[in-house]
Amino acid sequence: MDTPDSTAVAAGTSAFDIDRVRADFPILGRLVHGHPLVYLDNAASSQKPYAVLEAVDSYYKEIHANVHRGAHELSIRATEAYEEARAVVADHIGAASASEVVFVRGTTEAINLVAETWGAAHLAEGDEVLLTKMEHHSNLVPWQMVAGRAGATVRYVDVAPDGTLVMEDYDRLLSNRTRLVAVTHVSNTLGVVNPVAEIVRKAHDAGALCLVDGAQAAPHMQIDVQALGCDFYAFSGHKMLAPTGIGALWGQRRLLDHMPPWQGGGEMISEVTLEGFHTAPVPHKFEAGTPNISGAIGFAEAVRYLQRIGFDAIHRWEAELTAYALDALAAVDGLEIFGPLHERVGVISFRYADIHAHDLATILDQRGVAIRAGHHCNQPLMEHLGVDATARASLYFYNTRSEIDALVGALGLAARLFGVA
Ligand code: PMP
Repeated sequence: MDTPDSTAVAAGTSAFDIDRVRADFPILGRLVHGHPLVYLDNAASSQKPYAVLEAVDSYYKEIHANVHRGAHELSIRATEAYEEARAVVADHIGAASASEVVFVRGTTEAINLVAETWGAAHLAEGDEVLLTKMEHHSNLVPWQMVAGRAGATVRYVDVAPDGTLVMEDYDRLLSNRTRLVAVTHVSNTLGVVNPVAEIVRKAHDAGALCLVDGAQAAPHMQIDVQALGCDFYAFSGHKMLAPTGIGALWGQRRLLDHMPPWQGGGEMISEVTLEGFHTAPVPHKFEAGTPNISGAIGFAEAVRYLQRIGFDAIHRWEAELTAYALDALAAVDGLEIFGPLHERVGVISFRYADIHAHDLATILDQRGVAIRAGHHCNQPLMEHLGVDATARASLYFYNTRSEIDALVGALGLAARLFGVA
């Protein structure tokens, strides 16, 4: 396929040509229920540009074979492409070495890996794991599971009415019993960007490690794990243009080296006898079985695409769009937005009069407007907010002002159907 790629033009210029960018995403041109698709469910998963689709396609057409195992040409080429993908992702987040990046299915698997290896080895009776009340279930349940087995306690930093973390509560809860602080970089319900570098610094001062859930941050901002200073950083490819089923766990090499393996099988060993086994060096120690080779290659292509557009341009456009959306939604009578107005990304949760979020999402869908409704895997946060569900519109850099207008227009339809005054 020889499809246009706007980034080839955009590179070297500071212009962000939204029409050209949109043309890179074939799905954005489709209709839904007879209306142009308005895709505002990006926090759940992003759409994919031609560059990524083609990288996956040509991998399967030209070099597919299993990695690390064969001496034949295709296996060598596939292994090179897979390891090159690791280097691209590692370089993108400022890792000291590609060996610090473990390919996983996504953020959920990355956090489970740390919980089941580092957590299982280091947590003991009386220890504490410190989370926040805004954590996604993926950064909550794995810690409850491992802490439950170890006799450790999970504690939660409070969330203020404006959706920001109560840092005084963090200071209060952090103690010499805290072994690990696990915090989301950006909330998938409130859109708030947490002060992660400060959180990490304080965790370290207290002698604890810090894991950052970057699922909602990595798609929107340049991540530099060394500048953040954290110990683990987990993120998903599918929320940042890559295929589903691929993500990354970054960890400090000295920690990964000393963590026990998680899943056993092929790839993760250096030697096996009937009596036992020796593990392979990191990152392969944590990659048992045939990995998601095409996913990793697609992930690297997604990263290259984002780099060509540039996070500065992405940030400028998204900030403009988010401000536009917040203004437009705030102007809708009876609509309440959750989360702060500043220090946030375009993940916008709201409720509208007494229309249930699920009804709202169904009505909007009839107009081709895709939003999400529910607890967003944030049940404790929902309880804290006093709601059982919110509607959530989440933006990405390929969205437009006219799509926000379409959202507001579809809300008008819902208001008429539900008789909202
Ligand atoms: N953490 C956060 C903050 C998320 O938004 C998500 C996805 N909704 C996850 C973790 C889990 O990501 P995945 O489903 O890709 O593993």
